[in-house]
Formats: sequence, structure tokens, C-alpha cells
Amino acid sequence: MPELPEVETTVAGLRPVLEGQRLVFVEPRRADLRWPIPVDLRQRMTGAMVTSLGRRAKYGLIETDRGDVMIFHLGMSGRWRINPEELEKHDHLLMETDAGDRMVLNDPRRFGSLDIVRADQLDSYKPFVSMGPEPLGNEFTAAHLKAATKGRKVPIKQLLLDQRTVAGLGNIYVCEALHMARISPSKKGDQISKPRYERLVEAIKQVLTAAIAAGGSSLRDFAQPDGELGYFAKDWLVYGREGEACRCGAPVRRRVDSGRSTFYCSQCQK
Ligand code: ZN
Repeated sequence: MPELPEVETTVAGLRPVLEGQRLVFVEPRRADLRWPIPVDLRQRMTGAMVTSLGRRAKYGLIETDRGDVMIFHLGMSGRWRINPEELEKHDHLLMETDAGDRMVLNDPRRFGSLDIVRADQLDSYKPFVSMGPEPLGNEFTAAHLKAATKGRKVPIKQLLLDQRTVAGLGNIYVCEALHMARISPSKKGDQISKPRYERLVEAIKQVLTAAIAAGGSSLRDFAQPDGELGYFAKDWLVYGREGEACRCGAPVRRRVDSGRSTFYCSQCQK
């Protein structure tokens, strides 16, 4: 499942072929993904020039000179391909620039989404309305976490996965960051001290930055003909390592709550 670093890398991969280019052809090939694709997306994007690309949480943003922003979400299985040799079954959006580059959004499971909004109304886009700060932004600090979790007798892991606390963090990165910060995933939010939150903020930024850097080094493959974005093979500290030895020697544990696995070390994380 694409997480924030994969989306950041996708945006970085699309930027060189899209930024400053005019879209001569835009074609959604079905009416919906997770929800309907706006019927005017094709008309609003065709002929527009892409002025910039960005990311908010796990959403990619493609802004045009018409004051529109096309917003994509990769869902569980979405990926962009640049200059594919042929179209595949689950290619749901095709775009072509005046430089002759073609890109397709492929999403077999269709948990992703495509939307278009006015740039000046981006903050009112429904998924963004109550969203917390970007984890890599300056507003994401220990003071923010302390305030956001005040009086919350809810496990810190659950609070971090709540997009209102911080935007775009998924299960893997939360498990890894809690391990790095040596905080138990079940520790209640209001019982964590400011210095421990400082360590946690540091850990979250570090684990995301490292994954984005790893993704950046895979970008060369992405930009090749028929290239695609892979998900970075990562040497996680705890994620997916149940029963293996933690750095402290104790076995990594796994617990399942509401269908989601939590990996942690009960020795290091208190
Ligand atoms: Zn340990």
C-alpha cells in the first residue's frame, strides 16, 4: 500500500515530465474509482498547462494554469506509469503532454481517487478539512502533539494513525517511529511527556526522510520507458519482523487490533 514516501516519490517522478508542459490529451477510462471521477475533469485538464506538482498527506496534487488542482490518491494499489509500451487492463486515466510523453494511472483494486478542485478552495476539499499538519512540516512539533493528545486516553498508535493528529502517517511508519522513539504503541496519549514527544517527532521525521531518500534513488527506474514506481524494499527495525531479534536481543512482537498488525519490542518500548 503506497504510503506518504511513495506518494512523495511518485510526485517527484511525474514532475520532470509534467511541470511546464501542456496536456494535449486527458482521458478517464471509467466513471469512478473509489468514488466518481468528476465529469468535467477531462475538459478542465485538456489543454491546460501544468504549473506545479505537490503533495498533501497521501494525495498528489497537479496544479494547472487554469487555477485548477487535480488531486489523486493511490489507494491500496495505485501507481503511475510513464511512457508505457502498451495499455493495461487497469489503466484508468491517460494523459499526454505536448512534448509527447504519456502517463497512465493504474489501479487494479480501485481504492484510489481522482478529483479536481479550484486551487483557492483546496483547504475546503473534504479530506483536507480537518487534517492535521504535515509530518515533515514545521508545524509538526512536540508542542503540537502534546496539545493534540491532551486528555486523550487512547493508545498513541491510534492517535498517530488519526489524520487529525498528523497527516498521512500509515501503519508501517507509525510502528517504526514508535520503536525508534522507544514508546510503547499502547501507551496512552496523555501519559507521554514532552521530551518523549520530542523524540517521537524526531523519529517520525527521520523514518519518513530515509524512506523518501530510498525512493529517490529508485526514481531512475521510474522514469525509464514503461518504468513504474516500485515500493521500496526497506530494512525495517520491527515492521514485519515478528519473532526476530530486536537490537536489544528480545524478540519482536506482533499484535493484531481491528485487522491491523502492530510490531513492537516490549523490552525497548515502554
Ligand atoms: Zn528491543
